[in-house]
Amino acid sequence: MNIVVPQKSIPLREQVQVLVVGGGPAGVGAAVAAARMGMKTMLLEKRGFLGGNVTACYVETCNYFMKGTSFKPQGIAQEVEEGYDREYPSDDLRPNAAHRFHSEYLKVYLDDFLRREGVDVKLHAFVNDVVIRDGSIRAVVIQTKQGPQAVEAGLVIDCTGDGDVAFAAGVPFEQGRDTDHKCQPGTVSVRLAGADVGRLLEDGDGLSEISRRFHREYREGVTGLPCFRQDLPLGRLTKAGIVSYVNYACSYGIDPTDVDDLTRGEQECRHFILDIYRYMKANYPGLVNTEIASMSPEIGFRDSRRIRGLYRLTIEDMEVQKHFEDCIAVYPRFYDMLTPDPMLLKAGDGSVAGRGYEGHIYEPITDSRCFEIPYRCLVPVKTDNLLVAGRCISAGHVAESGVRAISLCTMTGQAAGIAAALSIRERRVPAEVPVAELRARLRQGGFNLPGEEKGGQL
Ligand SMILES: Cc1cc2nc3c(=O)[nH]c(=O)nc-3n(C[C@H](O)[C@H](O)[C@H](O)COP(=O)(O)OP(=O)(O)OC[C@H]3O[C@@H](n4cnc5c(N)ncnc54)[C@H](O)[C@@H]3O)c2cc1C
Repeated sequence: MNIVVPQKSIPLREQVQVLVVGGGPAGVGAAVAAARMGMKTMLLEKRGFLGGNVTACYVETCNYFMKGTSFKPQGIAQEVEEGYDREYPSDDLRPNAAHRFHSEYLKVYLDDFLRREGVDVKLHAFVNDVVIRDGSIRAVVIQTKQGPQAVEAGLVIDCTGDGDVAFAAGVPFEQGRDTDHKCQPGTVSVRLAGADVGRLLEDGDGLSEISRRFHREYREGVTGLPCFRQDLPLGRLTKAGIVSYVNYACSYGIDPTDVDDLTRGEQECRHFILDIYRYMKANYPGLVNTEIASMSPEIGFRDSRRIRGLYRLTIEDMEVQKHFEDCIAVYPRFYDMLTPDPMLLKAGDGSVAGRGYEGHIYEPITDSRCFEIPYRCLVPVKTDNLLVAGRCISAGHVAESGVRAISLCTMTGQAAGIAAALSIRERRVPAEVPVAELRARLRQGGFNLPGEEKGGQL
């Protein structure tokens, strides 16, 4: 049953050229890139802080898969890492990460960074509606304590991770795997205080040994824990005895856009956290005196809606390293996908080529193979002034498990920000922006892009 909401007039709060919705890794890249192109740029974020999953789910050691390789994040992603390191030198005593943030410091760093870059940030601005006129988004509607308010924009970039703006605009999308539309499980992370640092470091990296041991114990079926989770990734270890990130609790069968599912996921994960906390205290020397310092503020998702764009990136493209004339980002080939099906957790061999899709697919970077993302994955099939960036771009389900990498989300965001500015400046729809100029600007901004420019449009 539906009820009809009466038409009402709402205040027009602001008018901007580029409006970025979502302040995670993709939104940061998009907003800074658009502002650097001279656009009046606003960023709307539903939470009270920026950073997306990095700050809201403690995903602080995000480039773990780059360790030991020559790959580096490029463009604004690299600037953020280097700028952050200068202001907030790492307190991590573990040698295992290619780079690490402290999520609380990162919140402050991103506030300052976006202010310096001239981006007008509005926090607590939840977007779930748009006003469409002649096939374009005329305005985006934010839900505030003072009721709904509108922001008018020349071009909107959807960096919500869930494709909320595109959804509101009626753009078709996919969600989860093809067979049953189930997504990867959602996770609430936990931070511990009181670790015995001396003990954990006396014989190498004690936390890595705990992760290995837990994996073995789970596979042998001796943990007795109800959560279907065989991995126990652990984050920074500091002098203060903080283990900054325990990525364990997994809630399955959650639609990241459904209120009932989200409620179940949050509550179930909190119980799983208490289980693993007690298990670690009871079984792992070095963690005996720990206590829970905090649970992450919101359940985090690895995948959600994927917007249908002018091109849909597939694992076949990634496997053959397909070249695209409109390539806007090159990234090392890797996949990391928790199975959507808890009963098949231990199945498969972890590979894409084998029976991996039945279980957890994990293929780390092993060689110099890369994949390319074409600009068309950022251009929705519908709506004339909308781009998407980050984990909700147009890609297959398993392909998204590589596309979702945090630094790559900032890179697709950067490409979308420049494309948005070109679209406005040239008065062309996003599908017709001069791709040669977009790619040239990305190269100037630090991207390694292959191929000679042939010029022209898509
Ligand atoms: C537990 C966990 C572990 C992970 N580990 C890794 C890892 O080790 N390495 C790695 O590279 N990736 C990892 N990921 C994946 C990675 O975190 C995401 O793919 C990445 O953060 C996506 O960036 P994004 O900007 O597209 O979306 P998000 O990070 O989800 O950011 C979206 C932003 O938009 C805001 N938003 C959403 N909807 C609205 C709305 N309607 N209105 C206004 N604002 C809105 C959100 O509050 C959020 O700030 C992990 C994810 C999880 C959950």
